[in-house]
Amino acid sequence: MDIDSIECISSSDGLDEEEVQHMNLLAQFGSTSKSTLNSQNYGGVNNNNNNNSNLRPATSVHELLECPVCTSSMYPPIHQCHNGHTICSTCKVRVHNRCPTCRQELGDIRCLALEKVAESLELPCKYFSVGCLEIFPYYSKLKHEAMCSFRPYSCPYAGSECAVVGDIPFLVSHLRDDHKVDMHSGCTFNHRYVKSNPREVENATWMLTVFHCFGQYFCLHFEAFQIGVAPVYMAFLRFMGDEADSRNYSYSLEVGGNCRKLTFEGTPRSIRDSHRKVRDSHDGLIIQRNMALFFSGGDRKELKLRVTGRIWKEQQNPDGGVCIPNLCS
Ligand SMILES: [Zn+2]
Ligand SMILES: [Zn+2]
Ligand SMILES: [Zn+2]
Ligand SMILES: [Zn+2]
Repeated sequence: MDIDSIECISSSDGLDEEEVQHMNLLAQFGSTSKSTLNSQNYGGVNNNNNNNSNLRPATSVHELLECPVCTSSMYPPIHQCHNGHTICSTCKVRVHNRCPTCRQELGDIRCLALEKVAESLELPCKYFSVGCLEIFPYYSKLKHEAMCSFRPYSCPYAGSECAVVGDIPFLVSHLRDDHKVDMHSGCTFNHRYVKSNPREVENATWMLTVFHCFGQYFCLHFEAFQIGVAPVYMAFLRFMGDEADSRNYSYSLEVGGNCRKLTFEGTPRSIRDSHRKVRDSHDGLIIQRNMALFFSGGDRKELKLRVTGRIWKEQQNPDGGVCIPNLCS
């Protein structure tokens, strides 16, 4: 995730001068109005730090560090005009180098004093409202937030560039309602993938099924792509949660026919890893197209694959740390 896009972005792209003026007035005269300008909502999670008055250090210092244009926290280089009005580096470009407060040319003056003040501050993680209780020095806060385990997840659906983000329950209903993804309960599955013209690798649809077991959600992907010039099919499972928790689970996939079979066993990858990253690392069951057509039987004109699988929970042995599979009933 691009750090800049989290911290310093406003609701519209091309700010005209009136808008800048208007926002600036709001920033000066009413702290309550600011929340309407700064309400990026990640799937129901309100990241607005303004709600956090009890955890924030002296409000006045914090307000000094708020860019008057985008109302985001400013990071070095913090700029100022000849009259001392400050602005963030992103907005400096946006207002065409003219101070939105006094209309003077902004030039290239750094506000080192404010940058130093920022260095001495400690602030809560912006995901405090969804459970992160950590406090960070001003300049390491962004770094933490990019990796915070309470940060929202991206939609795991791979068929389109979906920009929806949110927590797991939100994404599960989003997959079901908006992507019409199949939902299954239980830790074993048996899926048939049928495609009438298997040579059109390029046009193969992305398929996704969501499994609910052990109180968790898993996404089963099935898709066609190419490794070099070789057309392949690939099936893999992703865990809807953080990477640390994904290691508590294992899964197996099996596909076969004509007295042959291929199996894969592994740990589901977290949906923090993009679908593409998992695919490109070949971390799943890969079936060469020739083998897939052989498994399909018939005249090799149609792809008919039956993929069976199982998910289980690993139990950590308290003595040796050895993983013992916990067979599901
Ligand atoms: Zn700004
Ligand atoms: Zn100025
Ligand atoms: Zn955090
Ligand atoms: Zn989506």
